Amino acid sequence: MNPVIALVGRPNVGKSTLFNRLTRSRDALVADFPGLTRDRKYGNGQLGDKTYTVIDTGGISGDEEGIDAAMAEQSLLAIDEADIVLFLVDARAGLHVADEAIANHLRVNQKKTWLVVNKTDGLEEHSAMADFWTLGLGDPRPIAAAHGRNVTTLIDEVLAPF
Ligand code: GDP
Ligand code: MG
Repeated sequence: MNPVIALVGRPNVGKSTLFNRLTRSRDALVADFPGLTRDRKYGNGQLGDKTYTVIDTGGISGDEEGIDAAMAEQSLLAIDEADIVLFLVDARAGLHVADEAIANHLRVNQKKTWLVVNKTDGLEEHSAMADFWTLGLGDPRPIAAAHGRNVTTLIDEVLAPF
């Protein structure tokens, strides 16, 4: 069985961009407006001799109603299905109350969780990370999904136990 990696986080943090990079697909719809991925989406990827499955989700905005509630539900199901959770936050947007709500859920969950700070392109990594230590999910990991910055290194570490 491939290890399963779930991508969770608020809408628009770059989950689908990372999904596309990890699966080398153009399947996940990337857009300039949030909330486009309404269902869980599965893809496979490979790094070296290791294969893995990635789940893209619509995101959790923190004030779920209607379609947003359905997307949050998809995220919770994806977390259940996963061996590893990559929790994405947005370095440009900074810390958001919804990030804290998601972090609370992930802290009580027993899944191995990585706190991934996306969109660090053009930013100084150390200061971009500063906001996110308070989430209590350990060492924030800077990436730029759109450009590939640090992505291979991260996935290599994520897959090391598998
Ligand atoms: P999702 O809603 O979490 O799936 O986010 P998307 O993958 O659809 O991306 C939302 C927006 O963020 C799009 O305009 C992306 O091009 C942009 N984006 C994603 N990754 C990066 C990145 O590493 N750097 C920058 N500057 N923008 C990014
Ligand atoms: Mg998306």
